[in-house]
Amino acid sequence: MKHFSIAIDGPAGAGKSTIAKEAGRRLGFIYVDTGAMYRAMALYLLRLGLDPKDQQAVEEACKGAQITLTYEEGLQQVYLNGENVSGLIRTEEVGNMASATSVYMAVRRKLVQLQQELAARENVIMDGRDIGTCVLPEAPVKIYLTASVEVRARRRFNELREKGVSCEIDEIEADIIARDRQDMNREHSPLRQAEDAVLIDSSYMTIEEVIQAIINEAEKKGLKR
Ligand code: C5P
Repeated sequence: MKHFSIAIDGPAGAGKSTIAKEAGRRLGFIYVDTGAMYRAMALYLLRLGLDPKDQQAVEEACKGAQITLTYEEGLQQVYLNGENVSGLIRTEEVGNMASATSVYMAVRRKLVQLQQELAARENVIMDGRDIGTCVLPEAPVKIYLTASVEVRARRRFNELREKGVSCEIDEIEADIIARDRQDMNREHSPLRQAEDAVLIDSSYMTIEEVIQAIINEAEKKGLKR
């Protein structure tokens, strides 16, 4: 592999994107949020009013979604058929649709190809559910980032409250449990820790400690800065 890749996988709300974004900034790596791609696809399917259980309809429809990533002032922007949808994909509705429709191979194949092309062109820190196991199996650094369900629910609750969204912590926790179950038990590319991934449980760690642990791991694997 010509470029250096860092793969970060883990369940919903483990803090992957916050951490990967900042670690990427410090290392000068492109941060690729693959969840955003599945979310953009989900938005497309939601707008079509499709039932996520209708596999045939979803697999056929996903051909019409052109998803691209750009970087504006260092921030990833997600485009769906030419429209910047970055501000529309962070809702629970879109997240749940993403989880329900990312089970299909036709959806995954399309997005995985895009992810692999990005990693072939640039040094990347990429987060998702199947990066270390399927998308970049040769990545020199693989991290499985997790935290307890209670901690993850509390973090998401605080995040939503800060944005002024009213929510119930019990509902968020139930949502996280359902999403984990769906992501871990699906047939294609289920969420699991790659054999050669380093496990980081961030329940009692600060963001800074987690970032440092990842950067140390990259340096251990030969990343020169
Ligand atoms: O990480 P995020 O919560 O934005 O991801 C939304 C959903 O997209 C996940 O619950 C998962 O089902 C799906 N996903 C995936 N593979 C990835 C990234 C996300 O299946 N690499």
